[in-house]
Amino acid sequence: MPKIKVKNPIVDICGDEMANVIWDKIKTNLINPFLEIKLVKFDLSIKNRDLTNDKITHEAAQAIKKIQTGVKCATITPDDKRVSEFNLKKKYPSPNGTIRNILNGTIFREPIIISNIPRFVTHWNESMIIARHAFGDIYRSKEISVNTKGTLTLRFESHDKKIITEEKIFDFESPGVGLSYFNVDKSIKDFAFSCFNFAIERKVPLFLSTKNTILQKYDERFKKIFDELYRKNFEKEFLKNKIIYQHRLIDDMVACAMKWSGGFLWACKNYDGDVMSDLVAQGYGSLGLMTSVLKSPDGRILETEAAHGTVTSHYKQHIKGLNTSTNPIASIFAWSRALNHRATIDKNDKLKKFSEDLEKICINSVEKGNMTKDLALMVGPDQKWLNTNEFFKALRKEMESLY
Ligand code: NAP
Ligand code: MG
Repeated sequence: MPKIKVKNPIVDICGDEMANVIWDKIKTNLINPFLEIKLVKFDLSIKNRDLTNDKITHEAAQAIKKIQTGVKCATITPDDKRVSEFNLKKKYPSPNGTIRNILNGTIFREPIIISNIPRFVTHWNESMIIARHAFGDIYRSKEISVNTKGTLTLRFESHDKKIITEEKIFDFESPGVGLSYFNVDKSIKDFAFSCFNFAIERKVPLFLSTKNTILQKYDERFKKIFDELYRKNFEKEFLKNKIIYQHRLIDDMVACAMKWSGGFLWACKNYDGDVMSDLVAQGYGSLGLMTSVLKSPDGRILETEAAHGTVTSHYKQHIKGLNTSTNPIASIFAWSRALNHRATIDKNDKLKKFSEDLEKICINSVEKGNMTKDLALMVGPDQKWLNTNEFFKALRKEMESLY
Protein backbone atom coordinates (compact mmCIF):
# COMPACT_ATOMS: atom_id res chain seq x y z
CA MET A 1 0.00 0.00 0.00
CA PRO A 2 1.34 3.53 -0.73
CA LYS A 3 2.33 5.60 2.24
CA ILE A 4 -0.21 8.06 3.63
CA LYS A 5 0.74 11.62 2.66
CA VAL A 6 0.87 14.16 5.49
CA LYS A 7 0.89 17.71 4.14
CA ASN A 8 2.19 19.56 7.20
CA PRO A 9 5.06 18.59 9.51
CA ILE A 10 5.07 17.76 13.19
CA VAL A 11 7.79 18.60 15.70
CA ASP A 12 9.67 15.50 16.85
CA ILE A 13 11.55 16.00 20.12
CA CYS A 14 14.14 13.33 20.89
CA GLY A 15 15.14 12.66 24.48
CA ASP A 16 17.25 10.48 26.74
CA GLU A 17 18.13 6.91 27.75
CA MET A 18 15.69 4.00 27.26
CA ALA A 19 12.83 6.32 26.32
CA ASN A 20 14.91 7.53 23.38
CA VAL A 21 15.79 3.97 22.32
CA ILE A 22 12.05 3.25 22.20
CA TRP A 23 11.47 6.55 20.38
CA ASP A 24 13.66 5.42 17.47
CA LYS A 25 11.96 2.02 17.36
CA ILE A 26 8.53 3.67 17.13
CA LYS A 27 9.62 5.69 14.11
CA THR A 28 11.38 2.76 12.44
CA ASN A 29 8.58 0.25 12.95
CA LEU A 30 5.33 2.19 13.15
CA ILE A 31 5.70 5.63 11.56
CA ASN A 32 8.24 5.71 8.72
CA PRO A 33 7.01 2.57 6.88
CA PHE A 34 3.47 3.96 6.70
CA LEU A 35 3.59 7.76 6.55
CA GLU A 36 5.14 10.27 4.21
CA ILE A 37 5.64 12.93 6.84
CA LYS A 38 8.16 15.66 7.52
CA LEU A 39 9.46 15.51 11.09
CA VAL A 40 11.04 18.72 12.35
CA LYS A 41 13.55 17.24 14.77
CA PHE A 42 14.97 18.71 17.96
CA ASP A 43 17.51 16.82 20.03
CA LEU A 44 16.69 17.56 23.67
CA SER A 45 19.05 14.93 25.06
CA ILE A 46 20.80 16.24 28.14
CA LYS A 47 24.10 16.43 26.26
CA ASN A 48 22.66 18.66 23.55
CA ARG A 49 20.86 20.85 26.05
CA ASP A 50 24.22 21.35 27.75
CA LEU A 51 25.97 21.99 24.46
CA THR A 52 23.42 24.67 23.48
CA ASN A 53 23.04 26.13 26.99
CA ASP A 54 19.41 24.92 26.82
CA LYS A 55 18.67 27.17 23.81
CA ILE A 56 17.47 24.05 21.97
CA THR A 57 14.55 23.66 24.41
CA HIS A 58 13.35 27.19 23.70
CA GLU A 59 13.72 26.63 19.95
CA ALA A 60 11.72 23.42 20.15
CA ALA A 61 8.90 25.19 22.01
CA GLN A 62 8.83 27.99 19.42
CA ALA A 63 8.67 25.40 16.64
CA ILE A 64 5.69 23.69 18.29
CA LYS A 65 4.00 27.07 18.59
CA LYS A 66 4.46 27.65 14.86
CA ILE A 67 3.71 24.12 13.59
CA GLN A 68 0.92 23.57 16.19
CA THR A 69 1.77 19.90 16.78
CA GLY A 70 4.65 18.32 18.65
CA VAL A 71 5.52 14.95 20.12
CA LYS A 72 8.13 14.64 22.87
CA CYS A 73 10.28 11.83 24.18
CA ALA A 74 11.05 11.71 27.91
CA THR A 75 14.09 13.73 28.94
CA ILE A 76 16.36 13.83 31.98
CA THR A 77 15.62 16.65 34.40
CA PRO A 78 19.05 17.02 35.96
CA ASP A 79 19.54 16.82 39.72
CA ASP A 80 22.94 17.07 41.45
CA LYS A 81 23.76 13.47 40.58
CA ARG A 82 23.02 14.00 36.89
CA VAL A 83 25.07 17.21 36.85
CA SER A 84 28.16 15.24 37.84
CA GLU A 85 27.23 12.16 35.73
CA PHE A 86 27.18 14.28 32.53
CA ASN A 87 29.57 16.98 33.73
CA LEU A 88 26.94 19.64 33.02
CA LYS A 89 27.59 23.36 33.00
CA LYS A 90 24.53 23.88 35.18
CA LYS A 91 21.41 22.24 36.58
CA TYR A 92 19.04 22.96 33.70
CA PRO A 93 15.32 23.32 34.46
CA SER A 94 12.83 20.65 33.38
CA PRO A 95 12.28 20.93 29.58
CA ASN A 96 8.61 20.20 30.20
CA GLY A 97 8.35 23.27 32.43
CA THR A 98 10.12 25.45 29.87
CA ILE A 99 7.89 24.25 27.01
CA ARG A 100 4.74 24.57 29.11
CA ASN A 101 5.60 28.16 30.02
CA ILE A 102 6.25 29.12 26.39
CA LEU A 103 3.06 27.45 25.11
CA ASN A 104 1.11 28.66 28.14
CA GLY A 105 -0.75 25.39 28.11
CA THR A 106 -2.49 22.96 30.44
CA ILE A 107 -1.30 19.41 30.96
CA PHE A 108 -3.89 16.63 30.74
CA ARG A 109 -2.88 13.22 32.06
CA GLU A 110 -4.90 10.29 30.83
CA PRO A 111 -4.55 6.55 31.45
CA ILE A 112 -4.92 4.01 28.63
CA ILE A 113 -7.51 1.38 29.50
CA ILE A 114 -6.95 -2.22 28.34
CA SER A 115 -9.60 -4.76 29.28
CA ASN A 116 -7.27 -7.61 30.38
CA ILE A 117 -4.92 -5.41 32.41
CA PRO A 118 -6.28 -5.26 35.96
CA ARG A 119 -6.42 -1.93 37.75
CA PHE A 120 -5.70 -1.40 41.44
CA VAL A 121 -9.02 0.41 41.66
CA THR A 122 -10.93 -2.33 39.92
CA HIS A 123 -14.02 -0.37 38.91
CA TRP A 124 -12.08 2.44 37.16
CA ASN A 125 -13.17 1.11 33.77
CA GLU A 126 -13.00 4.40 31.90
CA SER A 127 -10.23 6.93 31.99
CA MET A 128 -10.17 9.74 34.51
CA ILE A 129 -8.34 12.67 32.95
CA ILE A 130 -6.55 15.05 35.30
CA ALA A 131 -5.93 18.67 34.24
CA ARG A 132 -3.51 20.53 36.47
CA HIS A 133 -3.42 24.32 36.67
CA ALA A 134 0.34 24.58 36.70
CA PHE A 135 0.75 28.19 37.82
CA GLY A 136 1.09 29.95 41.17
CA ASP A 137 -0.28 28.89 44.58
CA ILE A 138 2.24 27.15 46.84
CA TYR A 139 4.70 26.67 43.95
CA ARG A 140 5.28 30.43 43.84
CA SER A 141 4.75 31.07 47.56
CA LYS A 142 6.97 32.85 50.08
CA GLU A 143 7.32 31.32 53.51
CA ILE A 144 8.69 32.63 56.76
CA SER A 145 9.83 31.20 60.06
CA VAL A 146 8.69 33.07 63.14
CA ASN A 147 10.91 32.90 66.20
CA THR A 148 9.80 35.82 68.37
CA LYS A 149 6.47 37.24 69.51
CA GLY A 150 4.87 39.51 66.93
CA THR A 151 2.17 40.08 64.32
CA LEU A 152 2.01 38.67 60.80
CA THR A 153 0.16 40.88 58.30
CA LEU A 154 -0.71 40.59 54.63
CA ARG A 155 -0.46 43.92 52.83
CA PHE A 156 -1.18 44.95 49.27
CA GLU A 157 0.37 48.19 48.09
CA SER A 158 -0.40 49.75 44.70
CA HIS A 159 2.39 50.91 42.39
CA ASP A 160 1.86 54.49 43.60
CA LYS A 161 2.57 53.31 47.15
CA LYS A 162 -1.02 53.43 48.43
CA ILE A 163 -1.91 50.67 50.88
CA ILE A 164 -5.03 49.15 49.36
CA THR A 165 -5.59 46.35 51.88
CA GLU A 166 -3.92 45.28 55.06
CA GLU A 167 -5.07 42.18 56.94
CA LYS A 168 -3.81 40.94 60.26
CA ILE A 169 -3.06 37.23 59.84
CA PHE A 170 -2.01 36.21 63.35
CA ASP A 171 -0.55 37.45 66.66
CA PHE A 172 2.31 35.06 67.43
CA GLU A 173 2.90 34.40 71.14
CA SER A 174 5.31 31.54 70.40
CA PRO A 175 7.41 30.34 67.41
CA GLY A 176 5.72 29.18 64.23
CA VAL A 177 5.59 29.56 60.47
CA GLY A 178 3.77 31.72 57.91
CA LEU A 179 3.04 31.62 54.20
CA SER A 180 1.67 33.80 51.42
CA TYR A 181 0.77 32.96 47.84
CA PHE A 182 -1.05 34.25 44.79
CA ASN A 183 -2.66 33.59 41.45
CA VAL A 184 -3.81 35.77 38.53
CA ASP A 185 -7.13 35.86 36.66
CA LYS A 186 -5.49 35.58 33.24
CA SER A 187 -3.84 32.28 34.09
CA ILE A 188 -7.01 30.85 35.64
CA LYS A 189 -8.98 31.92 32.56
CA ASP A 190 -6.48 30.28 30.18
CA PHE A 191 -6.71 27.11 32.28
CA ALA A 192 -10.51 27.22 32.10
CA PHE A 193 -10.41 27.70 28.31
CA SER A 194 -8.08 24.69 27.90
CA CYS A 195 -10.33 22.52 30.08
CA PHE A 196 -13.62 23.48 28.37
CA ASN A 197 -12.09 22.96 24.93
CA PHE A 198 -10.63 19.60 25.91
CA ALA A 199 -13.95 18.40 27.40
CA ILE A 200 -15.81 19.29 24.20
CA GLU A 201 -13.20 17.70 21.94
CA ARG A 202 -13.29 14.45 23.93
CA LYS A 203 -16.99 14.67 24.82
CA VAL A 204 -16.44 14.09 28.54
CA PRO A 205 -18.05 15.90 31.50
CA LEU A 206 -15.87 18.43 33.32
CA PHE A 207 -15.56 18.97 37.08
CA LEU A 208 -13.62 21.78 38.75
CA SER A 209 -12.65 21.20 42.38
CA THR A 210 -11.82 23.92 44.92
CA LYS A 211 -12.25 24.64 48.63
CA ASN A 212 -14.29 27.81 48.14
CA THR A 213 -16.17 27.32 51.40
CA ILE A 214 -12.92 28.15 53.21
CA LEU A 215 -11.10 30.32 50.64
CA GLN A 216 -14.09 32.54 49.87
CA LYS A 217 -12.05 35.00 47.81
CA TYR A 218 -9.17 32.89 46.48
CA ASP A 219 -10.88 29.65 45.46
CA GLU A 220 -14.17 31.45 44.81
CA ARG A 221 -12.31 33.36 42.06
CA PHE A 222 -11.53 30.06 40.29
CA LYS A 223 -15.18 29.03 40.53
CA LYS A 224 -16.43 32.42 39.31
CA ILE A 225 -14.08 32.52 36.31
CA PHE A 226 -15.05 28.99 35.25
CA ASP A 227 -18.80 29.69 35.79
CA GLU A 228 -18.74 32.92 33.79
CA LEU A 229 -16.75 31.46 30.92
CA TYR A 230 -19.03 28.42 30.83
CA ARG A 231 -22.18 30.49 30.59
CA LYS A 232 -20.73 32.93 28.07
CA ASN A 233 -18.78 30.65 25.74
CA PHE A 234 -19.40 26.96 26.28
CA GLU A 235 -22.84 26.11 27.70
CA LYS A 236 -24.49 25.63 24.27
CA GLU A 237 -21.67 23.41 23.01
CA PHE A 238 -21.80 21.32 26.21
CA LEU A 239 -25.57 20.83 25.94
CA LYS A 240 -25.22 19.92 22.27
CA ASN A 241 -22.64 17.27 23.16
CA LYS A 242 -24.74 16.05 26.13
CA ILE A 243 -21.96 16.71 28.64
CA ILE A 244 -22.03 18.73 31.85
CA TYR A 245 -19.81 21.18 33.71
CA GLN A 246 -19.94 21.32 37.51
CA HIS A 247 -17.96 22.85 40.36
CA ARG A 248 -17.47 20.56 43.37
CA LEU A 249 -15.73 20.89 46.71
CA ILE A 250 -12.39 19.10 46.61
CA ASP A 251 -13.31 16.71 49.44
CA ASP A 252 -16.60 15.81 47.76
CA MET A 253 -14.76 15.41 44.43
CA VAL A 254 -12.17 12.94 45.76
CA ALA A 255 -15.01 10.87 47.21
CA CYS A 256 -16.82 10.90 43.86
CA ALA A 257 -13.66 10.02 41.95
CA MET A 258 -13.21 6.98 44.15
CA LYS A 259 -16.87 5.96 43.78
CA TRP A 260 -17.32 6.63 40.04
CA SER A 261 -15.91 4.44 37.27
CA GLY A 262 -14.01 7.22 35.43
CA GLY A 263 -15.02 8.82 32.14
CA PHE A 264 -14.60 12.48 33.14
CA LEU A 265 -12.17 15.37 33.11
CA TRP A 266 -11.12 16.75 36.50
CA ALA A 267 -9.78 20.32 36.58
CA CYS A 268 -7.48 20.57 39.58
CA LYS A 269 -5.78 23.52 41.23
CA ASN A 270 -2.00 23.30 41.18
CA TYR A 271 -1.31 21.34 44.36
CA ASP A 272 -4.40 19.13 44.00
CA GLY A 273 -3.28 18.26 40.46
CA ASP A 274 0.21 17.39 41.65
CA VAL A 275 -1.18 14.99 44.25
CA MET A 276 -4.14 13.59 42.31
CA SER A 277 -2.20 12.83 39.13
CA ASP A 278 0.06 10.48 41.09
CA LEU A 279 -2.87 8.95 42.95
CA VAL A 280 -4.80 8.37 39.72
CA ALA A 281 -1.70 6.97 37.93
CA GLN A 282 -1.24 4.42 40.70
CA GLY A 283 -4.95 3.59 40.77
CA TYR A 284 -4.87 2.70 37.08
CA GLY A 285 -1.77 0.65 37.66
CA SER A 286 1.04 1.29 35.24
CA LEU A 287 3.24 4.24 34.32
CA GLY A 288 3.67 2.51 30.96
CA LEU A 289 -0.01 3.24 30.26
CA MET A 290 -0.18 6.91 31.25
CA THR A 291 -0.23 9.65 28.62
CA SER A 292 0.28 13.34 28.94
CA VAL A 293 -0.98 16.05 26.60
CA LEU A 294 -0.18 19.76 26.73
CA LYS A 295 -2.86 21.92 25.13
CA SER A 296 -2.95 25.67 24.56
CA PRO A 297 -6.01 27.60 25.84
CA ASP A 298 -7.52 27.91 22.35
CA GLY A 299 -6.95 24.20 21.72
CA ARG A 300 -4.92 24.88 18.56
CA ILE A 301 -1.49 23.83 19.82
CA LEU A 302 -0.86 20.34 21.12
CA GLU A 303 2.25 18.65 22.50
CA THR A 304 2.07 15.04 23.61
CA GLU A 305 4.29 12.65 25.57
CA ALA A 306 4.32 9.58 27.77
CA ALA A 307 3.97 10.43 31.46
CA HIS A 308 6.86 8.17 32.48
CA GLY A 309 10.52 9.19 32.52
CA THR A 310 13.57 7.94 30.67
CA VAL A 311 13.42 4.50 32.40
CA THR A 312 17.05 4.64 33.54
CA SER A 313 17.07 1.17 35.11
CA HIS A 314 16.21 -0.44 31.75
CA TYR A 315 18.76 1.71 29.91
CA LYS A 316 21.52 0.41 32.16
CA GLN A 317 20.58 -3.13 31.03
CA HIS A 318 20.30 -2.05 27.40
CA ILE A 319 23.80 -0.55 27.20
CA LYS A 320 25.22 -3.76 28.65
CA GLY A 321 23.71 -5.47 25.61
CA LEU A 322 20.97 -7.16 27.64
CA ASN A 323 17.35 -7.42 26.52
CA THR A 324 14.81 -5.24 28.27
CA SER A 325 11.05 -5.43 28.39
CA THR A 326 10.17 -1.77 28.23
CA ASN A 327 6.57 -0.78 27.53
CA PRO A 328 6.34 1.62 24.54
CA ILE A 329 2.54 2.01 24.60
CA ALA A 330 2.38 5.43 26.30
CA SER A 331 5.01 6.74 23.86
CA ILE A 332 3.11 5.27 20.89
CA PHE A 333 -0.04 7.01 22.14
CA ALA A 334 1.95 10.25 22.25
CA TRP A 335 2.54 9.74 18.51
CA SER A 336 -1.04 8.72 17.76
CA ARG A 337 -2.51 11.72 19.61
CA ALA A 338 -0.13 14.15 17.89
CA LEU A 339 -0.92 12.62 14.48
CA ASN A 340 -4.61 12.81 15.28
CA HIS A 341 -4.27 16.52 16.03
CA ARG A 342 -2.35 17.04 12.78
CA ALA A 343 -5.13 15.17 10.95
CA THR A 344 -7.82 17.37 12.50
CA ILE A 345 -6.06 20.60 11.54
CA ASP A 346 -5.21 19.37 8.03
CA LYS A 347 -8.61 17.65 7.56
CA ASN A 348 -6.71 14.48 6.62
CA ASP A 349 -9.13 11.54 7.06
CA LYS A 350 -6.60 8.86 6.14
CA LEU A 351 -4.18 10.14 8.76
CA LYS A 352 -6.98 10.30 11.31
CA LYS A 353 -7.83 6.65 10.69
CA PHE A 354 -4.14 5.73 10.86
CA SER A 355 -3.78 7.43 14.25
CA GLU A 356 -6.81 5.54 15.56
CA ASP A 357 -5.50 2.25 14.17
CA LEU A 358 -2.16 2.81 15.88
CA GLU A 359 -3.95 2.92 19.23
CA LYS A 360 -6.17 -0.05 18.38
CA ILE A 361 -3.26 -2.34 17.45
CA CYS A 362 -1.55 -1.61 20.78
CA ILE A 363 -4.70 -2.51 22.69
CA ASN A 364 -5.45 -5.55 20.50
CA SER A 365 -1.92 -6.89 20.91
CA VAL A 366 -2.10 -6.73 24.68
CA GLU A 367 -5.59 -8.26 24.65
CA LYS A 368 -4.21 -11.13 22.55
CA GLY A 369 -1.62 -11.72 25.27
CA ASN A 370 1.35 -9.95 23.68
CA MET A 371 2.67 -7.58 26.31
CA THR A 372 5.74 -6.28 28.14
CA LYS A 373 6.81 -7.42 31.59
CA ASP A 374 5.32 -4.47 33.53
CA LEU A 375 1.84 -5.40 32.27
CA ALA A 376 2.38 -9.17 32.56
CA LEU A 377 3.24 -8.75 36.24
CA MET A 378 -0.12 -7.06 36.75
CA VAL A 379 -2.01 -9.86 35.00
CA GLY A 380 -0.44 -12.60 37.12
CA PRO A 381 2.34 -15.17 37.45
CA ASP A 382 1.21 -17.26 34.45
CA GLN A 383 1.20 -14.40 31.97
CA LYS A 384 4.05 -14.63 29.45
CA TRP A 385 5.83 -11.46 28.38
CA LEU A 386 7.85 -10.26 25.40
CA ASN A 387 11.06 -8.30 25.34
CA THR A 388 11.09 -4.82 23.80
CA ASN A 389 12.07 -5.99 20.30
CA GLU A 390 9.62 -8.89 20.28
CA PHE A 391 6.81 -6.56 21.31
CA PHE A 392 7.67 -4.13 18.50
CA LYS A 393 7.71 -7.01 16.05
CA ALA A 394 4.20 -8.02 17.18
CA LEU A 395 2.97 -4.44 16.80
CA ARG A 396 4.51 -4.03 13.35
CA LYS A 397 2.91 -7.26 12.19
CA GLU A 398 -0.51 -5.98 13.33
CA MET A 399 0.07 -2.68 11.53
CA GLU A 400 1.22 -4.42 8.35
CA SER A 401 -1.95 -6.49 8.32
CA LEU A 402 -3.90 -3.21 8.06
CA TYR A 403 -1.63 -1.17 5.79
P1 NAP B 1 10.77 6.52 35.19
O1 NAP B 1 11.71 6.70 34.08
O2 NAP B 1 9.34 6.79 34.91
O3 NAP B 1 10.92 5.02 35.72
C1 NAP B 1 10.55 4.60 37.00
C2 NAP B 1 10.30 3.09 36.99
O4 NAP B 1 8.99 2.83 36.49
C3 NAP B 1 11.23 2.31 36.09
O5 NAP B 1 12.42 2.00 36.74
C4 NAP B 1 10.39 1.10 35.73
O6 NAP B 1 10.34 0.18 36.81
C5 NAP B 1 9.00 1.71 35.63
N1 NAP B 1 8.68 2.19 34.26
C6 NAP B 1 8.51 3.47 33.84
N2 NAP B 1 8.20 3.51 32.57
C7 NAP B 1 8.18 2.26 32.13
C8 NAP B 1 7.94 1.66 30.86
N3 NAP B 1 7.65 2.41 29.79
N4 NAP B 1 8.03 0.32 30.75
C9 NAP B 1 8.33 -0.44 31.80
N5 NAP B 1 8.56 0.06 33.03
C10 NAP B 1 8.50 1.38 33.19
O7 NAP B 1 11.18 7.45 36.43
P2 NAP B 1 12.60 7.68 37.14
O8 NAP B 1 13.43 6.45 37.09
O9 NAP B 1 12.25 8.28 38.44
O10 NAP B 1 13.29 8.83 36.29
C11 NAP B 1 14.27 8.59 35.30
C12 NAP B 1 14.59 9.90 34.58
O11 NAP B 1 13.45 10.34 33.89
C13 NAP B 1 15.00 11.03 35.52
O12 NAP B 1 16.23 11.59 35.08
C14 NAP B 1 13.88 12.04 35.41
O13 NAP B 1 14.36 13.36 35.44
C15 NAP B 1 13.26 11.73 34.08
N6 NAP B 1 11.80 12.02 33.98
C16 NAP B 1 11.38 12.62 32.85
C17 NAP B 1 10.04 12.86 32.64
C18 NAP B 1 9.61 13.53 31.37
O14 NAP B 1 10.41 13.82 30.51
N7 NAP B 1 8.35 13.79 31.21
C19 NAP B 1 9.10 12.43 33.58
C20 NAP B 1 9.55 11.76 34.73
C21 NAP B 1 10.91 11.55 34.91
P3 NAP B 1 11.29 -1.14 36.93
O15 NAP B 1 12.69 -0.59 37.03
O16 NAP B 1 10.79 -1.75 38.19
O17 NAP B 1 11.07 -1.98 35.71
MG1 MG C 1 3.32 14.73 42.01
